[in-house]
Amino acid sequence: MKKTNPPRILLEHHLKTLRLSVFLREHRKIATQCASDKCDYETYLLRLSEQELLEREERGTERRIRAAKFPVLKTMADFDFGAARSLNKKQLFELARCEWIDRRENVIMLGNPGTGKTHLSIALGLAACQRGYHVKFVTAAGLVNELVEARNEKRLLKLQKQLAKVSLLLIDELGYIPFSKTGAELLFETFSQRYERGSTIVTSNLPFEEWTSVLESERLTGALLDRLTHRVHILPIEEESYRLSQSKARKRKRK
Ligand code: ADP
Ligand code: MG
Repeated sequence: MKKTNPPRILLEHHLKTLRLSVFLREHRKIATQCASDKCDYETYLLRLSEQELLEREERGTERRIRAAKFPVLKTMADFDFGAARSLNKKQLFELARCEWIDRRENVIMLGNPGTGKTHLSIALGLAACQRGYHVKFVTAAGLVNELVEARNEKRLLKLQKQLAKVSLLLIDELGYIPFSKTGAELLFETFSQRYERGSTIVTSNLPFEEWTSVLESERLTGALLDRLTHRVHILPIEEESYRLSQSKARKRKRK
């Protein structure tokens, strides 16, 4: 018959109640290691708590990445800076350290389709999740639809509160679809509410002069740009589409 061990049963019950899942899973294994290393009690506790913390951080990062709703996962490491010479690699790695998010600054990426704007904005968003920031990815059209829908269903305030809570809001693809007057006003309100309170990344295929074509009103565009560009890092990407240049390179190889 297997011998029961009441203190251990009780200990494991307490660890479960305290939600110390790593202590629960690892305490015996680390105890054996510590015994063979001749560690004292404090080192034993230190090793266990370090492991618990590490796993919690990892789980937190995974949760934040899921909550951000990135359409795909792209990292700085998969980005070929050789193909994007107009970008300053050092500046992007500096941005990936996220200090600008603490300063509530913004980032705007401007460039033709296929030049890596979405890729880089996701990579910065991912870096922010890893550093503990709450991030949300939306397309400009998706966000405007969500805002208009929420307003129609009288839950705009709730959505605005949710948006205000994220440290980094990523608004991708401003410029492809023009907004209705209400849509543009609601988008402006979102920028206004984030001003000096949270960071935003905006990507667009349009230069600033043409933003009026999607927001319709010149006055609104001016006011929006005024808030967005007060503290901003502007990254103009001047290359042609990455996919296009890759397929041209493949064709050249085949010849
Ligand atoms: P944009 O948002 O500017 O239209 P994307 O970021 O969607 O462009 O890029 C299109 C595709 O090309 C994506 O799969 C992206 O990962 C890839 N891509 C673009 N630029 C680069 C680059 N410099 N290095 C690696 N992949 C790139
Ligand atoms: Mg894109």
